Amino acid sequence: MSRTAPAETNKAVLHRYLDLPQGKSYGATYVWIDGTDEFVRCKTRTLDFEAKSPKDLPVWNYDGSSTYQAEGSNSDVYLQPVAIYPDPFTGGPNILVLCDTYKYNKKPTESNKRKTCNEVMEKAKDQEPWFGIEQEYTLLDYDGHPLGWPKNGFPGPQGPYYCGVGANKVFGRDVVEAHYRACMYAGIKIAGTNAEVMPAQWEFQVGPCLGISAGDDLWMARYLLHRVAEDFGVVVSLDPKPMIGDWNGAGAHTNFSTKAMRTPGIGLQAIEDAIEKLGKVHMDHIHEYDPKGGKDNARRLTGRHETSSINDFSAGVANRGCSIRIPRQVAEEGYGYLEDRRPASNCDPYSVTEIIVRTTCLDQVI
Ligand code: ADP
Ligand code: MN
Ligand code: MN
Ligand code: MN
Ligand code: MN
Repeated sequence: MSRTAPAETNKAVLHRYLDLPQGKSYGATYVWIDGTDEFVRCKTRTLDFEAKSPKDLPVWNYDGSSTYQAEGSNSDVYLQPVAIYPDPFTGGPNILVLCDTYKYNKKPTESNKRKTCNEVMEKAKDQEPWFGIEQEYTLLDYDGHPLGWPKNGFPGPQGPYYCGVGANKVFGRDVVEAHYRACMYAGIKIAGTNAEVMPAQWEFQVGPCLGISAGDDLWMARYLLHRVAEDFGVVVSLDPKPMIGDWNGAGAHTNFSTKAMRTPGIGLQAIEDAIEKLGKVHMDHIHEYDPKGGKDNARRLTGRHETSSINDFSAGVANRGCSIRIPRQVAEEGYGYLEDRRPASNCDPYSVTEIIVRTTCLDQVI
């Protein structure tokens, strides 16, 4: 087995340069989703002004033939700034710019799920849809093997690792802590973090976020995670079933509420009404819940390892083997939110939040 070491450089030396004053120039790193619908790309340009809103920023472009998004003969893809965040990597006045992408004819690229999501969120804005997304992921060593796992075997069976503490229970906490702080610095609505059931698997949550900002903050949090892990020479996998066998997969549980669901007295009924609508279009949702129309999730939603079968729809209070879980506290208080446990870890949150709102708020079936 060949093992290539990451091209490590000395981060202490890097800081000597990052500490130098930058004059009246500002770095803006444009970030976008590539043609895999799962990974992000970025490139940086210099501004001579401090941007306060995405509207202040120029439209830019890139070579879509190098990101699985265009033919070489007609390769320019437009970058349209949609949200800005303080840049935790270069600090100061520098920014990260989340963009959606448009083809030469100004039509959205196939990877641009944000445009229609934003339109749907606008239509449903009276109902104030909130989302909290639990992003599970796995840290891999540079050779593609889960971080901290024995190179020629497996760690002990699942049990001690979930929310674990100790050098033999969790692997890669430095990455998690650095990412958590980077999210806070960037102003992402990060809700928390925890170690997961499979060793080297972790979770962070974003939310509750209103409408389109759920997808925006989750995509930028993913960018920060890949970028922080890069600094540590560690690789992030969003694969929903990275290890076959008796190991948990990774999801992106999507917690959802409307104003009605959050209202005491009527909330639980609104939640039950939404669940009934969701049950009628189970397979349409499964199609939107991973980048491969359900194929990735088929490896994960087996009915084992705290999942429901991909073929069945089910709902229950406090039941982690269901498609939809009503948290116990929500059932007791009579209002709150529901948890859709079906989305895969590598889902596009724009696709997921769009179809949830179409089904439950707008009664639109695609
Ligand atoms: P779990 O118990 O399933 O592990 P977590 O604590 O990991 O749940 O995540 C719960 C998520 O639900 C958080 O992202 C939180 O922001 C979100 N959340 C809390 N209240 C609401 C609500 N009313 N509507 C939507 N999301 C919510
Ligand atoms: Mn060039
Ligand atoms: Mn969780
Ligand atoms: Mn989890
Ligand atoms: Mn959950």
